[in-house]
Amino acid sequence: MIALYGRASVLEAARIALDILRAQIGSGSLEANEFDAAITTLPSVLEKRIKRTVQPSLRPVINATGVIIHTNLGRAPLARAAVERIAEVATGYSNLEFDLEKGERGRRDIHAQNLFQQLLARNGVPTTATVVVNNNAAAVLLALSALAEGGEVVVSRGELVEIGGSFRIPDIMSRSGATLREIGTTNRTRIGDYEKAISERTKLLLRVHRSNFEIVGFTEQPALAELVELGKRRGIPVMEDLGSGALVDLEEYGIADEPNVYASLRTGVSLVTYSGDKLLGGPQAGIASGDPTLVARLRSHPLFRALRVDKMTYAALEATLGAYLREEFDSLPLLHILRASAESVRARCEKVSEKLQVVVGLSVEIVEVRSVIGGGAAPGKTLPSFAVSLAADGVNATELALRLRKGKKPVVARVEDGRVLLDLRTVAEDEDDIVVQAIVDAVKK
Ligand SMILES: *Cc1c(COP(=O)(O)O)cnc(C)c1O
Repeated sequence: MIALYGRASVLEAARIALDILRAQIGSGSLEANEFDAAITTLPSVLEKRIKRTVQPSLRPVINATGVIIHTNLGRAPLARAAVERIAEVATGYSNLEFDLEKGERGRRDIHAQNLFQQLLARNGVPTTATVVVNNNAAAVLLALSALAEGGEVVVSRGELVEIGGSFRIPDIMSRSGATLREIGTTNRTRIGDYEKAISERTKLLLRVHRSNFEIVGFTEQPALAELVELGKRRGIPVMEDLGSGALVDLEEYGIADEPNVYASLRTGVSLVTYSGDKLLGGPQAGIASGDPTLVARLRSHPLFRALRVDKMTYAALEATLGAYLREEFDSLPLLHILRASAESVRARCEKVSEKLQVVVGLSVEIVEVRSVIGGGAAPGKTLPSFAVSLAADGVNATELALRLRKGKKPVVARVEDGRVLLDLRTVAEDEDDIVVQAIVDAVKK
C-alpha cells in the first residue's frame, strides 16, 4: 500500500482505523468474534479509506444520456490532436507571451488569431479579428463592458435569457456597467421597437440566441439582416451572442435553422460571441469574432487581463481549428457524434445486447430514442438514435442507474418508464465493451 499510495496516506488511514477500533474495544461494544473479523479485514478497510481520500474528484465518465453537449458532463470531448498538442506545449515552456523573432516579451492574444482569420475568410468573412477569453459568459461581459459601459444596450424582451449556472443577460449587463434597454414583448418584437429605442445613449444592438428554449405560437422577431440594416443606418454596432457558435453548416448534420458563426458575420453582424466547448468541439473558451476595431477595444479593456486563457486552452483551440482548416471534421469527437447515423448506433446497440444475453435476470431491449443536442444549442432539436433498454430482476431502474454511476468507470444513463436507457450515440465506439462490463457488474452487485 505504501508503494501505491505513499507512506503518509497509509499512516493516516491506519491511525484513524485503529482509533475507531480502540474506541469500540474501550466501550465494550465488540464481541470476540467481531474483534477477530475487524482485525482480519483491517487491510481492506484501510485500502478503501485511502482510495477514497486520494482519488481525484474529477474523473472520466461514460455519457450514455444521449445529450450531446452535456454541460454537467464536461461538454465537448476533445480531439486526439488537441490533447496531444496540450501535452506537447504544456509539459515544457512555450512562447505563450514571447516574441521569438525579437527575443522579447510578446502578446498572448495573437495565438489562434491567424487560424480564426483564415477559417472565417474561407467562409466568406474576409476581414475579422478574434479574441479568446475564459468562457462565453466572459466574452459577453467583456464585450458589453468594452463597447457599452455607461451607455445603453437594446435587447428584445424575448431574448433576456438565462443559461444554466446563473448566466443571466440582465445581470451580466448590470455588471458590465451598461444599461439594459428592454424592448418589445416576450413573444413579439418588431424592428420598429428597436428603431424607437435608439437614442444618443445607445451603444449596441444586442441579439441573444435563444439557446435553451423556444417561443412558439404568436411570435415575431426581426430578421438578423433587418437589425444589421438598422444598425448600419444609425451607426450602431450589432452584437450577437450565439452561444453555441458552430463552425460548420449544421444543415449537413440534420439540424435545421441553427445559426452559425459564418452566416451571422456574413449577414453583417459586427461582433459575435460563442463558446469553445459547445458545437465548436474544442476546450472551454469564450470567443469574440468580428470587426477588428471593436475586437481591439475588447483587447485593451482591463477586464481582458482578468479573463484571459491559459496555454492549454490556446494549444487545444489551435489544434481544433487546425482540424477545421484541414477539413478533418470527423476527427472532432463532437462532429463525429452528430454525424453518426441512427443505423450505426442501432448496430452497436445490437452487439451490446448480444453480449448481455448471458446475464441472468436481465431483460435487454433495443428502443428508438432521440438524442438531444443540449448545452445551449438547437433548443427542441433532436437526432434519431437507438438505446439499450435494461430491466433487472429485483433491482429497480433507479437503483440500477445508481449502481452504473457508482461503478469502476461511471456510466451515466437515463431512467424512463421503469427502465434504464443507454443511448450509445454519445458513447465512444471503443467504450461499448466497458459499458457491457459495467452493466454486468451492476446487475451482479
Ligand atoms: C452557453 C451560452 C452562454 C454561456 O457560455 P459559457 O461558455 O457557458 O460561458 C452564453 N450565451 C448563450 C446564448 C449561450 O448559449
